[in-house]
Amino acid sequence: MTNQSPASCLLCGAPPVAIGAFMPERPEDFGGIPGKTRIFRYYLCSSCQGKPDAQDRIEKVIRAEVAGGVAHAS
Ligand SMILES: [Zn+2]
Repeated sequence: MTNQSPASCLLCGAPPVAIGAFMPERPEDFGGIPGKTRIFRYYLCSSCQGKPDAQDRIEKVIRAEVAGGVAHAS
């Protein structure tokens, strides 16, 4: 596959210390099937992990990736 990349913080690209999961309330907005749970996994570095707006930014990045066709529905 060509879409593999080295693990890096989703928000800033730094080496990650944690993995997280994002589950959109409306999977169809993220290229999924309505009613079917979609889970996006991501990495965070220690500094982004503690930021209060991290969740909001994570959702925006994932949305942008889905819109750009980077994430692939499986
Ligand atoms: Zn970071």
